[in-house]
Amino acid sequence: MKRTKALLMTLITTLIITAALPVPDAEAASKKVGKATLSLAKAAGMNQINVKWKKVKNANGYQLMVAKNKKFSKGKKSYKLVGTSKAATKLSAGTKYYVRVRAYGKSGKKTVYGKWSKVKTVRTVKKHSHKWKGTTTSKQVLVYNMVPFSQATGPNGRGEDGYFRKYRCMCSSCMAKNLYTANTSSLEIHIKKVNSPGWFEEIEWYRTFCNKCKTDITDFSTNEKLEHKYKCKGGYYSDWAFKERVYHKSTSYYTTQNTTTYKCSVCGMTK
Ligand SMILES: [Zn+2]
Ligand SMILES: [Zn+2]
Ligand SMILES: [Zn+2]
Repeated sequence: MKRTKALLMTLITTLIITAALPVPDAEAASKKVGKATLSLAKAAGMNQINVKWKKVKNANGYQLMVAKNKKFSKGKKSYKLVGTSKAATKLSAGTKYYVRVRAYGKSGKKTVYGKWSKVKTVRTVKKHSHKWKGTTTSKQVLVYNMVPFSQATGPNGRGEDGYFRKYRCMCSSCMAKNLYTANTSSLEIHIKKVNSPGWFEEIEWYRTFCNKCKTDITDFSTNEKLEHKYKCKGGYYSDWAFKERVYHKSTSYYTTQNTTTYKCSVCGMTK
């Protein structure tokens, strides 16, 4: 009897859960995936074709097909992609290729395909040995000579003067982020990497303030302190406070940077 009751309970629970499960979304089921449109199919050398297509509404992905005949049966290559571009590689040189793409979407668990795009034909560049021709362009680049951290007014953290120091790189990115660091070694690596115009240290000293009016009373005489305490009817507190900023600007100079690009005079490929 007990078992029957338990079974019945399980059955009821199952029924409730089943009823609560979302029915296949009526909207999703009616979603249609549109026809894809190729926007580019261009040979990039002997063995590659670059393909681009337009984004299709409701698409989860795309199927790109490249083949050597109209029926897409010879030398077929098929790719499933999420993005809207692909470089089809390892193709035969000097060969006419047919290219088409279609979008697909999901309807429940089913994959729904849109219509194939119009076919584009493109011929890969004929087989040849690349004839590289170099072009050198030169430009003036500004290089910074960093001021080493050893030239800071004090060592890392608290200086010999007992003051506390924070460091910051002066590159535009660090300036925007307002980043400080106490670790000069990682900052040094960064400064060199970004060719930074310099860095600065922010010096803090330990001061005593009136906790009512926030006046810095560190340098007050004992009498002045007592007077102030009487006037403000408050206590004192001590904390690190900004003293000054010391800039360490890197020296800069211009240097000529040459860049040579090679282009094949036959197919136009660059390296
Ligand atoms: Zn070439
Ligand atoms: Zn920086
Ligand atoms: Zn005060």
